Amino acid sequence: MECLRVLVTGGAGFIGSHLVKALLRAGHFVRVLDNFSTGSMDNIVDVARDVEIVVGDVRDYSVVEKCVRGVDVVIHLAALIDVAESIERPDLYFEVNVIGTHNIAKACRGVNVLIFASSSSVYGDPLKIPIPEDHLLSPRSPYAASKVAGEALIQAFSSIYGYRPIILRIFNVYGPKQSRAYAGVVIEFIRRVLRREPPIIYGDGEQTRDFIHISDVIDAIMKAMSIERARGVFNIGSGKAVTINQLAKLILKTLNREDLKPVYAPPRPGDIKHSIADITKSRKILGFEPKISLEEGIKTLINVIANS
Ligand code: NAD
Repeated sequence: MECLRVLVTGGAGFIGSHLVKALLRAGHFVRVLDNFSTGSMDNIVDVARDVEIVVGDVRDYSVVEKCVRGVDVVIHLAALIDVAESIERPDLYFEVNVIGTHNIAKACRGVNVLIFASSSSVYGDPLKIPIPEDHLLSPRSPYAASKVAGEALIQAFSSIYGYRPIILRIFNVYGPKQSRAYAGVVIEFIRRVLRREPPIIYGDGEQTRDFIHISDVIDAIMKAMSIERARGVFNIGSGKAVTINQLAKLILKTLNREDLKPVYAPPRPGDIKHSIADITKSRKILGFEPKISLEEGIKTLINVIANS
């Protein structure tokens, strides 16, 4: 495979750190731009010598412009990702997620490919499930709105500058090194049960989510980067619906702690009821096929957490 020069923004975060390692394994040159606000050096310390790390902020255009210089591919993951916090601090989310993405989209003039981590939250409460990419966008939080705005900026600048835009609408990712910011409910439940505390479920627990293992997400990003005819929007999920009640049950059973009954709390603002990806397009164009079942992913994650 051709050796590409790749900039990963947010490369010290959960998805970013796994991606950086996959890119290095594939023989690419990797530069990371991160301000380490929610990411951590611990996540990439084992590859720090093989990566160019720039400590900087995507809100600073001069830094972004320098980082983009000379690269073939930009993978833009840097963002603030907590839905509840975005309701409390909408201005901050606008600055980091919208202005940050504007800076990236504008600076990418000379690159070949720009991949953007968007989110399933752009769909809001879906009118149809599973949700196809051409579904109406109906963001219900400043976080979700910032992703819609980011998508629009990338579409616009890519049509002016001619780079290949890839927008990945990622569903609920789980796996090792997940940041505490928007916590994945999977890791949160596992941590609680390992501490002998019951899972806390917001709402009645009948809301559905589409959980996708981090290694499948990384596979999707790598495929999107290398398949020349791939452009535009792709859903990245497992295509399978799981209720939060079912998730809690599965984790309690796997950890042999069925005596711990979940505790119910009021629903959180901005949360959506149903979320399941239609991955027909990703399957067809990216050759994307999720490989890790939720049962298997949870077992390996428990081992990682228990041994850390
Ligand atoms: P994360 O918080 O672990 O990583 C985000 C990274 O961005 C961190 O390393 C953080 O330090 C960095 N960052 C934040 N603000 C920055 C700024 N102003 N300048 C430079 N760097 C900055 O989150 P993650 O789960 O790895 O998410 C990565 C991307 O994927 C985000 O864009 C997120 O919206 C998207 N996404 C994640 C999920 C999920 O389930 N984790 C789902 C859908 C979409």
